[in-house]
Amino acid sequence: MKRLGTRLLFALFLFFPVLASGAQEPKVLPLRDERYKADILLVVAHPDDEGAATPYLARALDEHKRIAVVFGTRGSSGANEAGAEQAAALGAIREIEARNALTALGITNVWFLSGKDTASQNVLQSLANWDHGASLEQLVRFVRLTRPEVILTFLPGTFIGEDHGDHQASGVLATEAFGMAGDPASFPEQLAGPTKRLEPLLENLRPWQPKKIYYFADADREDIFRGNGPEYSVKEISKSSKQPYWRMALDSFRAHQTQAKSFLDKIAQMDEAQIEKMATSDGGWTDTLHFVLGKSLVGGSVNGDVFDGITPGAIPFARPDASPEPARADLSVELGGPYSFYAEFRRAHGLTNLPHPEPPEIALQAPGTLVIPLWIRNRTAKTQEITFAATLPAGWTALNGTGKFTVVAKQVAATRIEITLPALAENGAKKTEPQEISVHAESNGQSIGEIKLRVELRKRALPQ
Ligand SMILES: [Zn+2]
Repeated sequence: MKRLGTRLLFALFLFFPVLASGAQEPKVLPLRDERYKADILLVVAHPDDEGAATPYLARALDEHKRIAVVFGTRGSSGANEAGAEQAAALGAIREIEARNALTALGITNVWFLSGKDTASQNVLQSLANWDHGASLEQLVRFVRLTRPEVILTFLPGTFIGEDHGDHQASGVLATEAFGMAGDPASFPEQLAGPTKRLEPLLENLRPWQPKKIYYFADADREDIFRGNGPEYSVKEISKSSKQPYWRMALDSFRAHQTQAKSFLDKIAQMDEAQIEKMATSDGGWTDTLHFVLGKSLVGGSVNGDVFDGITPGAIPFARPDASPEPARADLSVELGGPYSFYAEFRRAHGLTNLPHPEPPEIALQAPGTLVIPLWIRNRTAKTQEITFAATLPAGWTALNGTGKFTVVAKQVAATRIEITLPALAENGAKKTEPQEISVHAESNGQSIGEIKLRVELRKRALPQ
């Protein structure tokens, strides 16, 4: 016994100095925090927008996928059916509602950008109101933190539908973050190793290239978006809850009291059969989910499963392939505003196959005003005179912006034509069939462009 004790002491004496120096026991450097690794990152605009994807998220959770969610705003300018709170106080409530809705499904990694609600269909207004650069920086951080295989988001485009500018902005930012998060030269301060503990500015994240991005469109027309990605029935039964996926989505939605208290109170009084009848007859609760494949860097078929082609592990950064600038005449006119932005955006992000309505379309409140933003490009060596004329349906009138203008040599000028829209019949339908209008541009007796737009009139619509 004594001998053993002496030997042990001797052994400790021998090895202790070596262990203390650390020479033989390498220190494991800190790794990524696996609790925040996601397979799917959902990027949407407002609390309750997650509802566009919750039946799919419930299915993905059944397949043991890890999910994180980023909201663009806290929804502070929405309605409040549940209480008196408004503005920032309502935003604070809606943040919790969104967290509770997702927790009901089992999703707890949820973040908010500091965007503000924008009552407009114009994505450029939303991006301006969200401090585009700051929001993008935050979203790139969340992509690097969550390292998603797949990003799911609203389709960046403009069309007749709900077409909220904020929804579009979430899709624009998600696409930009998809293209930047893997780039070591983008927001490098997020990637640099930490310096001193008391100067915590550098984040020690790593670049991360997501593998696929899918979109969902809140467009009325489905013809142009169908067949460009997978679809999922929401009526299938969840392995975990033994309920249809739409029913799990409805349960999750119960958290959004501020947005739908009267509807939710009604549901609370119904039995299962009545809920099923309500869900299948209106509100789109049981509609099939359709996704549009934006980009895949790992192959897989367009209409195959979201995870088709995805294998574990990082892939190299893929700089988006920009397609060349379209050829233009020396003197040209084209639709400006969000329409020309999206043409540039698709070109810059290698999304030239992304479906978009042609001619472009919009739904507007009537009576009201339609604004047609235009670019005039004069690459010639002299000042050019241009004449605009609009062809409009009966009862629509050009308020201003038509007639003659000059653009000096080598300049690009912005202009706008404003058209007064007639009221809809008092007892008539809530909306008209879309009508086509056109703007003709002429110079020196020659046509230099014709711009077409399909316009639907509605009793209620978001401002243009
Ligand atoms: Zn929304």
